Amino acid sequence: MDEFGLIEHYFKRPPRQTEVVLGVGDDAALLAVQGAARQLAVTTDTLIEGVHFASGAAGCDVGYKALAVNVSDLAAMGARPLAFLLNLSLPKADAAWLADFRDGLFALADAVGLDLIGGDTVRGPLAITITALGTVAPGEALTRRGARAGDRIYVSGLLGEAALGFLARSGRVSLPPSMQAPLFARLDRPLPRIAEGQALLGIASAAIDISDGLLADLGHILQASGVGATLDLRRLPVSDAYVAALATVGYDPALVFGDDYELCFTVPPERVPALAGIATRFACGFHDIGGIVAGAGCVVRDGEGLYVPARAGYNHFHD
Ligand SMILES: [Mg+2]
Repeated sequence: MDEFGLIEHYFKRPPRQTEVVLGVGDDAALLAVQGAARQLAVTTDTLIEGVHFASGAAGCDVGYKALAVNVSDLAAMGARPLAFLLNLSLPKADAAWLADFRDGLFALADAVGLDLIGGDTVRGPLAITITALGTVAPGEALTRRGARAGDRIYVSGLLGEAALGFLARSGRVSLPPSMQAPLFARLDRPLPRIAEGQALLGIASAAIDISDGLLADLGHILQASGVGATLDLRRLPVSDAYVAALATVGYDPALVFGDDYELCFTVPPERVPALAGIATRFACGFHDIGGIVAGAGCVVRDGEGLYVPARAGYNHFHD
């Protein structure tokens, strides 16, 4: 099967979004642009075997996660998912692996309403680059720049689940199997908070998704907004499994590991009641973990005083 046959066989589907005028199969995709009525949010991410996922990882998990990390960026902007491009570097065209990859990829694409509109396939080490597009009303997107002193800081869901899954899978933490399964699920199949992100439009003053660890990602909000923060460790939302492992792993996996793909966002005090109003719609919950202050940097407190994490967050070009 050649490159074009491969695309035709595995990835060509009729588009569902009305803005997708022409999808996979021409020189470029065509998206209807409605003057300035909507803005296009565009994000891209690459996953490489052995760096972002283990060699031999199930194709369906790789396909799901490659899309999920991009969808999470759309969620953090409050964007409505529209379409995506898929660039695949494959050592060989393994039919079983491709079908499995495709199933994981389209499971999430269907769940959030994304059309695949094009891409490229090349022979090389296994790597996946996805570029995702979403739309948002002009001036409404959640950015990293809007946090102000006095705002409260929230995170969705639980922190440290993916980290704990990684530590359990690599044998560095031992937990009962019943506690491990949900952790592995979160590591392999994170849940991008698309509906939550859109519900936060007009409520959150700034937002980011937690891909590189809470401290690193909150740090981006602080830097872009020109403010500082204080966090209370005792308010960090963690699971029963995390509490069971806390004596072994400490708070660092929840603070600096990343891969949670939850949202971290800030809310001005006068909009906290509006947040409470939408929170009941979402099972993940929104948890107040601290406040924005004037100045710079993030101070983390626990019951006894200041907490200093071992490292600041994931960065490919550090260490
Ligand atoms: Mg992001």
